Amino acid sequence: MRIVVLTGGIGGAKFLVGVRAYARRTGAEVTAVVNVGDDVVLHGLRICPDLDSVLYTLGGGADPQRGWGRVGETWTVKEELAAYQAEPSWFGLGDRDIATHLVRTTMLNAGYPLSAVTEALSTRWEPGIRLLPATDDRLETHVVVSDGSTGDGSTGDGSTGDGRSDQRAIHFQEWWVRYRGALPTHRFVFVGASEAKPAAGVLAALHDADVVLIAPSNPVVSIAPVLAVPGIREALTDGAAPVVGVSPVIGDAPVRGMADRCLAVLGVPCTAEAVAGLYGSRRSGGLLDGWLVDPVDGASRVGEVTVRAVPLWMSDEAATEAMVTAAIELADATRAGAGE
Ligand code: GDP
Ligand code: CA
Repeated sequence: MRIVVLTGGIGGAKFLVGVRAYARRTGAEVTAVVNVGDDVVLHGLRICPDLDSVLYTLGGGADPQRGWGRVGETWTVKEELAAYQAEPSWFGLGDRDIATHLVRTTMLNAGYPLSAVTEALSTRWEPGIRLLPATDDRLETHVVVSDGSTGDGSTGDGSTGDGRSDQRAIHFQEWWVRYRGALPTHRFVFVGASEAKPAAGVLAALHDADVVLIAPSNPVVSIAPVLAVPGIREALTDGAAPVVGVSPVIGDAPVRGMADRCLAVLGVPCTAEAVAGLYGSRRSGGLLDGWLVDPVDGASRVGEVTVRAVPLWMSDEAATEAMVTAAIELADATRAGAGE
């Protein structure tokens, strides 16, 4: 069986640990198509937070306490940059992590596409699954905010009277890491998406897939940028493989992270049902055949999407593998036209 997973960073990486366990047990082949909308160039280095979260987590090099970055990290370079008052200072780059960015940036500057670079980095981390960036082209998530910065600085609340003049776009990382999403926020823009092409191997993997899983990643800033690459959404909606999503929301709260802030920007409630509605049913032009929710959110259907309730807490590998097994069974059920 060939499984393709659309995924973001930390939540997606945890999910992939369970997918890999399932694959080891059953002999399935796994390809993860990873969000690149978080990618950013800082201090001349190309940083791919979601790809790195997946690589480090699957490769056993992630920091389990912090939830991101490398275990056993040190911060000498960050301290030295601070001594130079080099900006941006709000993004933490650890010494071990920087080595990854140096290797990646060197390879990109030598002309290798990000997919080839990711494959090269994978030879060290041996993630046990195939990792592909959604695109080799530039795609960055920017966030349109009001922060009063274009006014005279005295308004404080960001209101300038004409409604629009204080709007500006900042990189998603600045919105997320620096401001914790706590700015008046208007919308997300996936810069470059319309001209981006799926990375080498992505469309073939989707075409050959027996099942497509949407990880319980942030739907707004992890999964949506993947789907914004022309061709990827179509490969799902028109493909033969059933598509099953896993809810990142349990009991009306994101388990971890700020999916609630992101959903609020879209005016979408932070519920498992509303996230399914955002993805839509494949029978009516959307993405999903099946949707997994936690028992606290139990529902039998969302519109035309078949819903199953199983515990969705990714507390350890076994619990996550059980979720994945349920997702594959749900895919099989929708394929059989069981349509419960
Ligand atoms: P990021 O790119 O690092 O922000 O990570 P992702 O977008 O891949 O995943 C973040 C999302 O994972 C969060 O918004 C949470 O809703 C979700 N999440 C984290 N832990 C769990 C869990 O144990 N169960 C479920 N169902 N979702 C989780
Ligand atoms: Ca991310």
